[in-house]
Amino acid sequence: FARPWSFVRGVPNMDVLPPAEGLEIAFAGRSNVGKSSLINALTGQGGLARTSNTPGRTQELNLFRPDDADGLTVVDMPGYGYAKAPKAQVAAWNALVFSYLRGRPNLRRVYVLIDARHGLKANDEDVLSLLDKAAASYQIVLTKADKIGSRALTDLIADTAKRIVRRPAAYPTLIATSSEKYRGIDELRAAIWTLMHE
Ligand code: GDP
Repeated sequence: FARPWSFVRGVPNMDVLPPAEGLEIAFAGRSNVGKSSLINALTGQGGLARTSNTPGRTQELNLFRPDDADGLTVVDMPGYGYAKAPKAQVAAWNALVFSYLRGRPNLRRVYVLIDARHGLKANDEDVLSLLDKAAASYQIVLTKADKIGSRALTDLIADTAKRIVRRPAAYPTLIATSSEKYRGIDELRAAIWTLMHE
């Protein structure tokens, strides 16, 4: 993960999706969950994923690849869950993501980011249902773990694990991270490394 990464392209629709190459992983989460910060921490490259996406901006999948290709593509999905998102925008998000999920044979895992202060919200559950429907394997990653105490974090992990136990495409364990304190990043990298080498 130490090598330089590049932005490949933004994908507003499946017609311009680059051909599947090597292994792909994707990151999804509510706007402001800390997705850009996590991708930047993970790749060791600040400024790769742009932080603070403005609501209402063009919804695109953003693809990143390391410069010396080792067969990994990271896909940054558009944030969801804006309080005032019009129904049409939510429908467009669902259509874009669902067609991507269904049509991407090399997509190995979607990391669904959940803010440790908030836990699973209704729109997160909607996204998990979409992933289940698409049979896209996903794992929950808690973000901003530095913002809550260790006991609250332990409770949240147990509670969230319980809530996803019957979801068919959910990976049973969670990863707790803090991009700010650089916590859980190595664990996430190890999980991705395992995906790449199994
Ligand atoms: P995105 O909209 O999901 O891409 O979220 P960003 O990465 O832009 O982060 C949203 C806000 O949360 C920013 O103000 C970040 O500084 C803050 N943030 C992101 N990760 C962390 C973290 O691990 N800990 C703390 N305390 N704040 C974070």
